[in-house]
Parts: sequence; C-alpha cells; structure tokens
Amino acid sequence: MTRLPLIVANWKMNTSLADAYLLANGVRNALHHLEHTEMVLCPPSVWLGLLAEHSVPPRQYSTLKLGAQNMHAAPAGSYTGEISPAMVREVAEYVIVGHSERVRYGRETVEQSNAKLHAALAHGLTPILCVGEPRKSKDSVRQVVQHLGHLVKGLSNAELREVVVAYEPVWAIGTGDPATPEYAQEVAWVLKQHLPAETRLLYGGSVEPGIAAGFLASPQIDGLLVGGASVNLKKFLTICQHADDTVVSARTATYRHPR
Ligand code: PEP
Repeated sequence: MTRLPLIVANWKMNTSLADAYLLANGVRNALHHLEHTEMVLCPPSVWLGLLAEHSVPPRQYSTLKLGAQNMHAAPAGSYTGEISPAMVREVAEYVIVGHSERVRYGRETVEQSNAKLHAALAHGLTPILCVGEPRKSKDSVRQVVQHLGHLVKGLSNAELREVVVAYEPVWAIGTGDPATPEYAQEVAWVLKQHLPAETRLLYGGSVEPGIAAGFLASPQIDGLLVGGASVNLKKFLTICQHADDTVVSARTATYRHPR
C-alpha cells in the first residue's frame, strides 16, 4: 500500500487567533481535494485546544491532525510556562521535538530532546524529530548521522518506527536558501540506512510552492516540514496539492487496464 505523504505546518510564533481559525478552517475545507495527503498543523500552543475543539477535532478527520511545536519531558510539576506530554495528548497527536529554534533560542540540549522523544512516545504522541547540520560543509552527512544517533539514544526499533524524522539543515531554515532536492535526497538516503524502513523522513528548510514537487518526487523523502510558507493558506494548500498529485501520478503510472 502506498504511504500517504506527510506535510507538517510549523506556524512558529505567528498568527492571531482569527488567523489560526482562518488557516485551520481553510485547510479543513480543502480536504476533499487532498485525500492522499496527511497534514499536521502545529500552531502556537495557546491555540491548540481551541482548534481541537472548533476546527480540527482530534482523530475526527483522518488526514488532518494537530501537533504541538514543543513540550516539556516531565509528566507534571513546577515548570512555569511549560506544557506536559499528557496536556498535548488531550488536544493533538503530534509534537515537534528538537527544532533548531528551540536549540538556538531555548538552549535545548540533545539530552533534553532525547528525553522529550521518550516522553512523547510514552504518551502516545508521534514525535517529529528534527535533525540537521548547522552549516554547509563537506562533513555534513556524517554530522547529521551523528546528531540522529544522539537524539534517538535508548529507543527500540519498534519505537523508532513511530518517529517521524525531519531532515532540516539549519542553514536552510527561514533563510530562503533551501537545500537542493538532490542534496536532501542524498542525506535522506544515508539517514534511512540508520532507521527502520517504516520510519517516515521529511525535508524541511525554506520550502515554497515552486520547489515542493522536487523534494516530493524523491523516493527517500516522505513529506515536508514547512515553516514560513505554512502561514499563507494559498501557499500551504499548493504545497499539499503537490504532495497529493505525486500519489495520484504514481498510482496512474502503475495502473494497468484489466483486459
Ligand atoms: C521550520 O520551521 O522547520 C522550517 C523549515 O521553516 P522554514 O520553512 O520557514 O524554513
């Protein structure tokens, strides 16, 4: 069976509540054109409960899901301003772990990301784990593989199958300087040698509608993590439509008329 491409929208610290409803309702209303694509919207956490209640009820729509942009690893406690895995689980199915902006601005360590990964899985959340090298270099692939190894420490193969890995070269995030699909495919191929076959692998970094199809055409890349372009409904839906089209054209290409 063909696996559905996965398109994740990371709204970061953007949107008013009105914008959030417009975006989420806009995606929900386009679902009938996007039957072959799974979409995860990751709004700021203050909007999660409201969107879960009014726009994207958890699990009601099979292909549209909600995710958190971050969470704490501890089950509860005196962590002012944080949200726990169980809180996220009440309103969402996914959580982004180890995003480079958490590392850069929140000083998140690899050990903390690893703890969040374990906590997400223990609470039935699907983690979207970000890995990527800080700078373009000849040594990039080795750095990314090493980064992945540290992040997934202690996970069983069965747990790794549940993780979505997002290859996000840090130099490509929010810079308008995306990796080429060829480069992303090469790194994705190497990463996949270190992961179970079932683990989904996304590319993220300055994806815009005009370049999305190039990544989605790669057999190593199962979807995209989209930041800036995901808070523009038209752009986001165009990217999702590209994902849907890749499934439809793959099915058409393999279809043989019964004689
Ligand atoms: C991201 O936030 O993970 C991201 C890839 O952002 P952008 O698409 O804006 O580069």
